Amino acid sequence: MARTRNNTLKLKFDSARKLSPAPESKGAAKIKPRYDLFINGKFEKPSNKKYFSTTNPATGEKLSEVADANASDVDKAVKAARVAYEKVWKKMPATERAKYVYRIARMVQERARELAIVETMDGGKPIRESRDFDIPTAANHFFYYAGWADKLEYAFPNRNAKPLGVAGQIIPWNFPLLMAAWKIAPALATGNTVVLKPAETTPLTAMHLAEIIQEADLPPGVVNIITGAGATGAALVKHPDVNKIAFTGSTDVGKIIQRSVADTNKKITLELGGKAPNIIFDDAPIDQAVEGIVNGIFFNQGHVCCAGSRLYVQESVMDEVVRKLKDRMDTLIVGDPMDKNTDIGAINSKQQLDKINEYIKIGINEGYDMYQSNCSLPGRGLFLRPTIFTHVAQSSRIAQEEIFGPVLTIQTFRTDDEVIQKANNNPYGLSAGVWTDKGSKIFNLTTKLRAGVVWANTFNKFDPTSPFGGYKESGYGREGGLHGLSAYISF
Ligand code: NAP
Ligand code: MG
Repeated sequence: MARTRNNTLKLKFDSARKLSPAPESKGAAKIKPRYDLFINGKFEKPSNKKYFSTTNPATGEKLSEVADANASDVDKAVKAARVAYEKVWKKMPATERAKYVYRIARMVQERARELAIVETMDGGKPIRESRDFDIPTAANHFFYYAGWADKLEYAFPNRNAKPLGVAGQIIPWNFPLLMAAWKIAPALATGNTVVLKPAETTPLTAMHLAEIIQEADLPPGVVNIITGAGATGAALVKHPDVNKIAFTGSTDVGKIIQRSVADTNKKITLELGGKAPNIIFDDAPIDQAVEGIVNGIFFNQGHVCCAGSRLYVQESVMDEVVRKLKDRMDTLIVGDPMDKNTDIGAINSKQQLDKINEYIKIGINEGYDMYQSNCSLPGRGLFLRPTIFTHVAQSSRIAQEEIFGPVLTIQTFRTDDEVIQKANNNPYGLSAGVWTDKGSKIFNLTTKLRAGVVWANTFNKFDPTSPFGGYKESGYGREGGLHGLSAYISF
C-alpha cells in the first residue's frame, strides 16, 4: 500500500478498513407490509385504494407500501382536524395539552431503537446518526415544546396568544422523524391541530409516529398523517379550511406553495434550501476545522439543508487544509447504513443520485480539480464517494446551486471583507460556519453574514431551544425555540 505524507492518518485509515462488520439487527424494526392513512385517530384505507412502495436505498428492497392520499382523503383529514380543533383541542386546558405532548416525547424515547432502525432502512442514513442524532433530537423537540404549552403567557407577556386552527405541514426526506417533530410539537403546544404529509421516499417513521400518537391516546383528529406524493401536498396547501402551511423542502416547491396561498389568509412558513459557506481563517485550529468541514458536508450524505457545502479557506493555509481534508476523507467508511461503523450511508433515491452525479459532471466539465476518496463501495444500492472540487470559481454552478449530496466546493480568500462578500454572494442564506481563534473576527462575521444560523468553531449543531430558519431563497419563518412558537399563534 502506498505511503502518504501523513503516516498517522494512514494508519487510522488502514485500521478503519479492517473493522469487522457491526450490523444493527433489523429485528426490532417491526415494519408492516402496508400502512393506511392516519385520519381521526384511526388507520383508514385511501379512497382510491392506491398504494405506493417505499424501498431501502442501500439495498433496493421493498420495505412496505403506503397509501397514496388524494384530494378527498386530504379533505377528510382536514375535516377531522377542524372538528378536533373546535370541539376538543382549543378548549383543553394548556396543562392537559402539555401532558399529551410530553407523553409522545416519552414514547418516542421508549421506541427509539425501533425508530432509528426504521429511519435508516427507509432513508439510507447511517444507523449511528439515526440512533444518536435524529431520534433523540426528535424526542427533545417534543419535550421542549411540552414545557411551553402551559407557559405561553410567559413566552408572550401581556399578549393573548391564540392558536391559528388547522396546520397543514409538509416535510422532506432528509430528517423524516425529526422534521415531523419540528412541525408537530410546536403546533400542538400552541393549541393547533395538524395534518402532516411526509415525503414519498421516507414515510415509515411518520407512520410509526402515528402509532405512537394513537397509543398516547391523543384525541382523534388532533394529528392526522397522510402519505402521498407532491400532488397530496399540493391538495393540502390548496385546501380552503387550512389556516397555516408549514413547509420544509426545496426552494422550487416553496415558490409554488407561496404562489398558491398568495390570495388567501393562510399563514405560511417556508424552510427551504441552502448553500452554506464554511470559512476557515489561518488562525483557526486546523485539525478541528477539518473535522468541522467533514461534519459540515458529509453528515447525512450531505442531504442537509444547512450543509457547509461551500468551503472558503484563507490562502496561506489552503494547502494544509486540503491535504488534511483528503487524508481524513480517506478514513471515512462509505457503505451499509445499518453497520455501526459506517460514516456515509446510501443516497436517498435514484433521482437524487442522478442529480448529484449531474453536478459532479458539471464540475469536471468546467475543469476544476476533483478528489474522491478511494474507498470501496457496496456492490448494490445507491452510494457515492465523498467528493471535493478545489479552486472553484465563485460563479460556477457547483458553487452557486444546492447539490444536496456529499460534494464540497473549495475556494480561497485573503481578507475578511473578501470572504464576507463571497459568502453572501449566493441566492441562499440558511447557515454559515466560521473557524478562527479570534472572538472579534467571529463577531464581525456573524453580524455581516446573511444567514439564519452562524456556527463558530463548530458546525451542524442543533438544539430545540435554538431558532432555525433562513434569509433570501432559504425561506422565512423560524422553527425551534421561542420563535418556533410564534409561527403557530396570533394575538
Ligand atoms: P421537495 O421536493 O421540495 O419536497 C418536500 C416535500 O414537499 C415532500 O413531502 C414533497 O412530496 C412535497 N411536495 C412536492 N411537490 C409539492 C407541491 N407542488 N405542493 C406541495 N408539496 C409538494 O424537497 P425534497 O427534495 O424532499 O427535500 C430537499 C429540500 O429540502 C432541499 O432543498 C433542502 O435544502 C430542503 N430542506 C430545508 C430544510 C430547512 O429547514 N430549511 C430542512 C430540510 C430540507 P414528495 O416527497 O412526494 O415529492
Ligand atoms: Mg424509502
